[in-house]
Amino acid sequence: MTQPPLWTTEALARAMGGRILGKPGPAIADISIDTRTLNAGEAYVAIKGLAHDGHAFAGAALAKGASVAVVSEDWAQSAPPGAYIAVADPLKALEKAGIVARARTAAKIVGITGSVGKTSTKETLARVLAREGRTHAPPKSFNNHIGVPLTLARMPAGAEFGVFEIGMNHAGEITPLTRMVRPDVAVITAIEAVHIENLGSIEAIADAKAEIFVGVEHGGVAVLPRDNRFYERLAKAARAAGIDTIVSFGEHEEADVRLMRIVLAAECSTVSARVMGTDVTYKFGAPGKHLAMNSLAVLAAAKLVGCDLALAALSLGETRAVAGRGEKSLRRLPSGSFTLLDESYNANPVSVRAAISVLAGAPKGPQGRRIVVLGDMLELGNDAERLHAELAEPIDKGNIDLVFCSGPMMRHLWDRLPSHRRAGYAPTAAELEPLVIRGLKPGDVVMVKGSRGSRMAPLVETLKATY
Ligand code: ATP
Ligand code: MG
Repeated sequence: MTQPPLWTTEALARAMGGRILGKPGPAIADISIDTRTLNAGEAYVAIKGLAHDGHAFAGAALAKGASVAVVSEDWAQSAPPGAYIAVADPLKALEKAGIVARARTAAKIVGITGSVGKTSTKETLARVLAREGRTHAPPKSFNNHIGVPLTLARMPAGAEFGVFEIGMNHAGEITPLTRMVRPDVAVITAIEAVHIENLGSIEAIADAKAEIFVGVEHGGVAVLPRDNRFYERLAKAARAAGIDTIVSFGEHEEADVRLMRIVLAAECSTVSARVMGTDVTYKFGAPGKHLAMNSLAVLAAAKLVGCDLALAALSLGETRAVAGRGEKSLRRLPSGSFTLLDESYNANPVSVRAAISVLAGAPKGPQGRRIVVLGDMLELGNDAERLHAELAEPIDKGNIDLVFCSGPMMRHLWDRLPSHRRAGYAPTAAELEPLVIRGLKPGDVVMVKGSRGSRMAPLVETLKATY
């Protein structure tokens, strides 16, 4: 059976409130905002970003076989011949298409926000739901004012489940996004001091995340972290938004989805949980208690959208740590190999501590060392120096053998480290790179982490290319 197209050109133009120019193909297979990844038959939407105006690539999109390019009326005035949908504002048009896509589906929708763990939870939940029905979820961390409407507009009418990541850097950003997504189930993974620079206080972060509740469908459910110190504040905000059912997850004895027992191993965890009255024991296929805690939220959401709990728990065994978030690989040295834990996607005090605890439990070779390579954690506001320096504690507790650091903030950690742990410091990740490359021995296990702006990902790429 052939799938119906994602949109007909007519329907997309109508949804976007635009007019068709030229002769587009009748069907649209997908929607893209990036000509580098666009495939023939897709609609290209010209979005104005910080660095580029997507209109500059409309010609390239059509040359690559885009069925139509969505452009602004202004730009269309002097556009070269081609197939277009002309709209007042392409980003607004994408939002409108997203709203129509949401309205035309009967899918059960889960929206996920939180300070850490959104993508990990989204990926895991999407995999679990995909076993039960047609599931739509964004790639990567498509969680902002562009990624969310794009993901919505790409949702097939026949989807049975949708999983959306909703992020924010500032107060007020989640409100319009959750109103578009209209989740049946809103999950908050955790509240932590991330992006505190923009928000001012952790209370303000909790309140900004709680904005997700205002978009929840009538009769919808909030899934909340019971062990978090802002649990009550979140629950109150959920009730104030008219949500009657709150399902909590955590270790707390009152948690509706309660962790009863966990056995941590290098590759996976074995978890026993009581999920809304039913006991389940399952294998969770990625290491670390923090990720296993996310799996409780996944089970809650899966059950709430109608999945069979036992099947969902079984699927959790197939979870794997993803690139940049703990992905593990064995790298070859001239005289042996070392293990690389790639945590380079992002960093903040909670996620660095979680990653250090995974490293502390990771097996190493007989001569090997546990090594952490850290770049600055950004956007931490006034407490930044202290939060960097305090990482000395988990490093000590976890018996980490060696530490490489880069960045002005990590200097504060470096200064706190005992000399036997100091492997190398450099002002930038690029300058640290050769020190790390020279410093590795067979049997080592190396974890690399830092905020995206600290550029640890290129360091990981070089490590992978070298070994
Ligand atoms: P972003 O806002 O950058 O999109 P995110 O909320 O999507 O982040 P993830 O990408 O899932 O978060 O995870 C970011 C980091 O936090 C990873 O290192 C991951 O291992 C870690 N992490 C995930 N869940 C938790 C958790 N519950 N507690 C602590 N750390 C976590
Ligand atoms: Mg994310």
